Amino acid sequence: MNTRLLIDWTRCEARGLCIELVPEVLTADDWGYPLSRHGDVTLPIPAPAIRYAEEAVRECPRLALRLIED
Ligand code: SF4
Repeated sequence: MNTRLLIDWTRCEARGLCIELVPEVLTADDWGYPLSRHGDVTLPIPAPAIRYAEEAVRECPRLALRLIED
């Protein structure tokens, strides 16, 4: 089972909190929007980072994040 982070681009306002919380997965593009650090289309979250990704989902000021399992 894989945990992936989904970003709703219609909501995100590039405030960067998720990038600070999950820097091993996310980096910022030139405008501050979160981008996969490894170039993945989807955003797989390694097990040690899941609790930080969960925090990002809870704390995103635009409610733009969610985690899925596949
Ligand atoms: S925390 Fe939310 S609003 Fe901020 S950059 Fe991440 S997805 Fe966008």
